[in-house]
Amino acid sequence: MKASKVFKNKNNSKSNKKSTNKYKSIAILTAIVCSICLLLVVVFKMFHLENLFNNEFKIKNSKKEIGVVQTLEGNKNSKSYELKYPFLKNENLNSVISSHLKQEIKDFLNENETEKAKLQSDYNIFSFDENNGISICFRYLKKAKKLKKETVKTMVFWHDKKLEIKNIFAKDKIKKVISTVKNEIQNNKEFAKIIKKEKIVLDEKFQNNPDLLNNFIIKKDSIEFSFNSGLIFPEKYGVISIDIENNLLKENFSETFIKINPSDALIKEKDLKKSKKPLIALTFDDGPREDTTNVILDELEKHDAKATFFVIGKEAKQYPEILKREAASGHEIANHTWSHKTLTKLSEKTIESEVEKTDDFVEETINFRPKLLRSPGGSINNKVKKIANKPFIYWSIDTKDWKTNDEKKTIDAILKNASDGDIILMHDRVKSTAEAVKTIIPELINRGFCLVTVSEMFRLKNIPLEKGRQYTKAIEEDSN
Ligand SMILES: [Zn+2]
Repeated sequence: MKASKVFKNKNNSKSNKKSTNKYKSIAILTAIVCSICLLLVVVFKMFHLENLFNNEFKIKNSKKEIGVVQTLEGNKNSKSYELKYPFLKNENLNSVISSHLKQEIKDFLNENETEKAKLQSDYNIFSFDENNGISICFRYLKKAKKLKKETVKTMVFWHDKKLEIKNIFAKDKIKKVISTVKNEIQNNKEFAKIIKKEKIVLDEKFQNNPDLLNNFIIKKDSIEFSFNSGLIFPEKYGVISIDIENNLLKENFSETFIKINPSDALIKEKDLKKSKKPLIALTFDDGPREDTTNVILDELEKHDAKATFFVIGKEAKQYPEILKREAASGHEIANHTWSHKTLTKLSEKTIESEVEKTDDFVEETINFRPKLLRSPGGSINNKVKKIANKPFIYWSIDTKDWKTNDEKKTIDAILKNASDGDIILMHDRVKSTAEAVKTIIPELINRGFCLVTVSEMFRLKNIPLEKGRQYTKAIEEDSN
């Protein structure tokens, strides 16, 4: 026993020496690795800080339709600024912009912080009415070591006058506008997620706070409201914006706004005339295609008729010029998914990307995000309804043009059945259809029909188009 113990001890002391050496080398190695890591962190931080202050601030896809881009630079103590702004032909507007910038700089330099900080800006500027109306949206980014905060400041001019929210909406309608804005935020998919996650009570945020709407820009057919970080959602979500169609707001517009936004007043006048006529919505799926879509567009333009194009995103990417032509001629662009797959067979994630990819591409190309969806083959179930979350537009007359490829059969399918509120399904990729419209369009007009887009038809008939619902015809009891 003893011997064996001694032997064991001997053996142990040997292995002890060995393991001490082993620990030593592990310690050295650890020290080296740690120093390298530390060095990397320091270098990264320096690089990061350097980058933080040197990077140019740019709004993604910013629009600068008017004026010349100028930069105002300067610094004081540890603070510096670099502000981009538009220089315009109109001296009065330049002086409004300049005094705004001066105030921003003054506020920034007066802030009681001694650490290094930088203020940068970029902007969007565009006209909503032949250069008489100008919308500017400044985005500011304030950076310091532990801070990165974006804010927004908007300006809208009509000729020489700067417009405030009280110029846009009738005094007694502001409350209604606030509730519309609130509802649209609630209905927005992204925002709804945040509201749920952060348990935000929107009613509280919007209660009697008319100043909340001060940051707005006027677009051609909509008004976009922006909210600085912390106003509605917690600061970490930054600036948020919501674009609201004039259709949803027009009951509340002031007389001034109707005067300065004649396009909207004109719509009202035209609406009145159109609403007394029977209406039809021609719809064309699966395009755009070079040879056929242009023929259809020629014919529509010839008769000042409007239609709706349910475009396939992939095809639109092939022919962006045709997409632009469709939009410029006043037709409605709607979503027919990215690659025309049967939506009911896809995963939630793929359904979402099939719809959103097309929306994104169309918006990038024509500055309008499709409101309506027609699923390929009309396939639909509750999952699709929930994920795609748009009004689903079906049809009341199916020409089967893609099947028959027969001009006469397409003409007959329509002219034998057309009635007020019909949604007619055709395909602008079909050659015989491009020929058939040359008979169909003048004949429908001859019979007293007004050819309008799908959205227009439902608006004129006062039928709201709701997300997640299916529509086959514009008559009250038909929507389900
Ligand atoms: Zn299709």
